[in-house]
Amino acid sequence: MKVFKFGGASVNSVERIQNLARIMLEKQEGKTMVIISAMGKTTNALEKVAEAFYAGKKEEALGLFEQVKQQHLGIAKYLLVTHYLACEAQLRDFFTEVEWLLHDEPVRDFDYYYDQVVCSGELFSTAIISAYLNETGIRNQWMDVRDIFRTDDDFRDADIDWDFTRQMVQEQVVPVLSGYPIVLTQGFIGATDENESTTLGREGSDYSAAVFANMLGADSLTIWKDVVAVMNADPKQFPDAVSLPELNYNEVIEMAYYGAQVIHPKTIKPLQNKGIPLYVKCFLDPSLPGTLIHNGSLPPLPPVIVLKEKQVLIELSSRDFSFIGEQHVGQLYHLFEKLHIKPNLTQNGAISFLCVTDDKTEKIGKLASAAAEFLDVQVKKELSVLTVRHYNPEIVEQLISGRTVLLRQQTADTVQILLG
Ligand code: ASP
Ligand code: MG
Repeated sequence: MKVFKFGGASVNSVERIQNLARIMLEKQEGKTMVIISAMGKTTNALEKVAEAFYAGKKEEALGLFEQVKQQHLGIAKYLLVTHYLACEAQLRDFFTEVEWLLHDEPVRDFDYYYDQVVCSGELFSTAIISAYLNETGIRNQWMDVRDIFRTDDDFRDADIDWDFTRQMVQEQVVPVLSGYPIVLTQGFIGATDENESTTLGREGSDYSAAVFANMLGADSLTIWKDVVAVMNADPKQFPDAVSLPELNYNEVIEMAYYGAQVIHPKTIKPLQNKGIPLYVKCFLDPSLPGTLIHNGSLPPLPPVIVLKEKQVLIELSSRDFSFIGEQHVGQLYHLFEKLHIKPNLTQNGAISFLCVTDDKTEKIGKLASAAAEFLDVQVKKELSVLTVRHYNPEIVEQLISGRTVLLRQQTADTVQILLG
């Protein structure tokens, strides 16, 4: 059996949903588990609903939610005839769940409400698409993934309970898959043991699909995207970027680590652990080969370039000329962990420690004031980190020409440069 994942951009309009149905007709054979995201920018719109609600602006929250409702009803009405009424009834149940909550007053943490509201985007999209596929003769069974993916209650960043979820997959998904060619469900969401909805972190549906592939022992996972393939650089930043027909898990995990926006970083581990190949394919032209990501070795790769903008350099130095040793660095890493700060680049010197991280102003403020208790702190903003894997001197020269190099680190296959 196979797992297919379709992201928000692949289902953001009537035409794109019809396109998805064509892909299912052409490319689906045997049993397939299909994971779908919320349509287009629905998750962002629902975030606004949760924010208004939490700020005590009930009317605004209800008004914003009404817009999301109407969009989905409009798409359902356009796509469906015989299946419209049943789908509308299902959508209205989901709407009521959210509206019921929006009429309350917030008494718990924001993240809890965020998840209760935001999870509905994937419920809406999958309800409509499942009905549409059934109506066009592509037989499938819709499932609520919250009955399957059990998570902890770390709202907005929930972790999956693997043992329980594996058991649910065996008990609930496997029997349905033997009766239907396609089981269709949501990515990105789950539920706690108290049936509270949770989300796994933004863009998390690649990861959901990989977890299903792992637990079902799938032959492959295909992620359908709006790019022709995984590229060696972001074509918006580097117009000369080229497609990479073949990658391995190791390369992809490195690329994701350095900030390439290819695939959600958590996606690879569940696939690697079972040796399941991952295809990245273009939903706009399914005949293109895309990228195959596997467990094996690779032919030589071209330089792979990742440019991260909006980086901040934090320079921490000792006040009295004492060395920055294990104790200071230990204290700093303790702060990073506490504040959920991920250093993208670090360097230790005699009396200073340099750390480059994403510009999350609030967190950096907290770090600076905590570190100021034992070190001098200086912050420099608006920098970029350039990472080149499989580099050669010419390409590095070309990429940094005319820029100020503030820091440079390299290994045999990767160079990282902080640019001013
Ligand atoms: N809908 C969610 C988001 O936009 C999850 C996903 O699409 O992967 O982040
Ligand atoms: Mg967590």
